[in-house]
Amino acid sequence: MKIYNTLTRKKEEFVPMEPGKVKMYVCGPTVYNYIHIGNARPYVVFDTVRRYLEHKGYEVTYVQNFTDVDDKIIKRANEEHSSMQAVSEKYIAEALHDADGLNVKRATVHPRVTQEMPEIIEMIQELIDKGHAYEDNGTVYYDTKSFPEYGKLSKKNLDELIAGASERVEADAAKKNSTDFVLWKPKKEGEPSWPSPWGDGRPGWHIECSVMSKKYLGETIDIHAGGEDLIFPHHENEIAQSEACSGKIFSRYWMHNGFITVDNEKMSKSAGNFFTVREISEKFPYEVIRFFILSGHYRMPLNFSDTLMQASQNGLERIKTAAQSLEHYIANCTTETKADDAEKEAEINGFLTKFEAAMDDDFNTADAITAIYELVKFINVNITEGFSKKAALAAQKMFNELCSVLGILQSEEKEEEDPEKEKIESLIAKRAEAKKAKDFATADAIRDELAAMGITIKDTRQGVQWFRA
Ligand code: AMP
Ligand code: ZN
Repeated sequence: MKIYNTLTRKKEEFVPMEPGKVKMYVCGPTVYNYIHIGNARPYVVFDTVRRYLEHKGYEVTYVQNFTDVDDKIIKRANEEHSSMQAVSEKYIAEALHDADGLNVKRATVHPRVTQEMPEIIEMIQELIDKGHAYEDNGTVYYDTKSFPEYGKLSKKNLDELIAGASERVEADAAKKNSTDFVLWKPKKEGEPSWPSPWGDGRPGWHIECSVMSKKYLGETIDIHAGGEDLIFPHHENEIAQSEACSGKIFSRYWMHNGFITVDNEKMSKSAGNFFTVREISEKFPYEVIRFFILSGHYRMPLNFSDTLMQASQNGLERIKTAAQSLEHYIANCTTETKADDAEKEAEINGFLTKFEAAMDDDFNTADAITAIYELVKFINVNITEGFSKKAALAAQKMFNELCSVLGILQSEEKEEEDPEKEKIESLIAKRAEAKKAKDFATADAIRDELAAMGITIKDTRQGVQWFRA
């Protein structure tokens, strides 16, 4: 299995530190608003990476934080005459609601900054003690010149960096170098604060991930991930903090997803060109949003548009219809086995080989979806031609396995019962009786009644199949 590692800018064979186990950290959102579909991309993409690693038999420990201390959250709280805690609680719950809708598995741990203060203060102190940080008037800065490898992830040269400032790094006269970043900032009137050896205050943004990653996964982890905007400065700074403390490699593989764009511009809250997952979910089901995100390679930009969402909906519908037809076929098939079963099963295993080849190549979900479409075609053809129940069950098992790696076609949804199921099935039975008695007028009237209820029926060799439009 190959992963594109941002650190080396190469696809590398994935070898975890400990055989059979993967330690993975994904930077989570700052919780001051509903998540937009851009924020949903790392959620869905890295959840799929996790699911595929699990499919391959790895035991994955997955950590994703919530940034619940931040200027934007405080601003929002002031606007709403609320508290930072109330705002973050609300949006953590909303983010989890959307993540559940998108069928993103809960992380092994979802740490929050406000609950990790002692460890944050401890790591900042360690950086000061080791000569990598300095304090000035209640502010603690990381000394970027003290870490010779600074810039190794973003491939930036420190001297060039000193010339240009980043939006996430505040300009400050007390800094030794303009690239130095804040580890601890002093309390401002009316803002939440915590006591520390440098006075009351709160941590800067980058230190939280170094601390949480170490606490829940250890000093060296296998995969660290996030959107590509995090490469610099956030992930560069995380490396500087963690490696300066431990003297060890912080993360062995770095994965970054490309942007979701609107008219080729990055979708962002600050640019105002964003669509929240919640508002999109009013028009398209959550599973369509997930399917849309997986329709492109995770490192490529993905343009969000109504047309592409519609195409994803149609594609998913095709997959769903095949699943329903197959289920119906199996329930009514009376031919247990056939002479060509072994041949069919070999063909079915071929779809797994194709799917895995795509996913092994740096998680090419677009090609993995193509393998599922080919399986769909195989299912449709074989239902028509009449394969055995044994072969049909093998196809169903494979289909479910591949769909569950991508997190599409959740079983809960399939099990959800139509509230009018009894009425529909009794009408279908009456229609069958009418047809048997050659009373076609009644049979047609029942078909019309069902159509008026939004039910489409399909006569198959295994009986009548019905769908709600
Ligand atoms: P934030 O709340 O801005 O820190 O973002 C949370 C996560 O969403 C980070 O991993 C970001 O890199 C990612 N992200 C933000 N905007 C986009 C976008 N337009 N496309 C893809 N990922 C994004
Ligand atoms: Zn982070």
